[in-house]
Amino acid sequence: MPMTMLGGVEAGGSKWVCAVGSGPEDIRATRVVPTTTPDETIGQVSEFFAAHRDVEALGIGSFGPVDVDPASPTWGFITSTPKPGWADVDVAPRLGAALGIPVGFDTDVNAAAIGERRWGAAAGLDTFCYVTVGTGIGGGGFVNGGLMHGLLHPEIGHMRVPHDRARDPFDGVCPYHGDCLEGLASGQAIWARTGIAASELAEGDPVWELEAHYLALGLTNLVCVVSPQRIVLGGGVPRRAGLLERVRDEVRTILAGYLAASELEGGIGDYVVAPALGDRAGVLGALELARGAAHAH
Ligand code: ZN
Repeated sequence: MPMTMLGGVEAGGSKWVCAVGSGPEDIRATRVVPTTTPDETIGQVSEFFAAHRDVEALGIGSFGPVDVDPASPTWGFITSTPKPGWADVDVAPRLGAALGIPVGFDTDVNAAAIGERRWGAAAGLDTFCYVTVGTGIGGGGFVNGGLMHGLLHPEIGHMRVPHDRARDPFDGVCPYHGDCLEGLASGQAIWARTGIAASELAEGDPVWELEAHYLALGLTNLVCVVSPQRIVLGGGVPRRAGLLERVRDEVRTILAGYLAASELEGGIGDYVVAPALGDRAGVLGALELARGAAHAH
């Protein structure tokens, strides 16, 4: 049986990562397109896939907020994003019409969760969270074997966490909420606190202690609400040496032994984990979204 050729796009706020293939061991072509205007960016992405005529379906994992309801007239749109020029953009319908192939569409973080479940750190799990901490904070995942959608889709970065202003007087950077999790602990927040990019910030800077604290509060909320079997913590910020360990310790401290699971005690090193697919989780998950769209067609 011939291998089904698929297209995947991780549509981000600064770049769109495109791939043609069938999985991590079989990537035939890639392209990175900068995020400029919708016409220019989507046009370039469309050209790339149009040159691969054997691609049978396309999967898109997009920054958002997005509309993931298949019954909605605006399915496949980026909806209310504050990113200039990108609100109400018909990403999936436009690419589907241009290429004449079925399209699967979800959030960037749900796509990454799909990738990690198919080939990575969440293999075999039915209930888990994927959280990414980069410029912003996002999250998604699976509950009982189905992607987390619901009313719209999870906005894990905008959950509220306790903010002790005596310890941390910083107001937060979220334009909607100020000191939500993203407002306090995103890469953008680190920049606003220190004037230094997270990747450049010294290891001993006291901001890392706060960072671990806030991320642990966010993850603890997920543990209590979703009861995930594992949490995959991706994005650039958690790659900082020592941060993942600090977050794990802090999660244990905050939970205070209340939940009777070895995964939350001695086993926490296998519970809060880095993505096995690294930066490729999103685009690989998008290939899997494409596979689903091809089968549904
Ligand atoms: Zn917010």
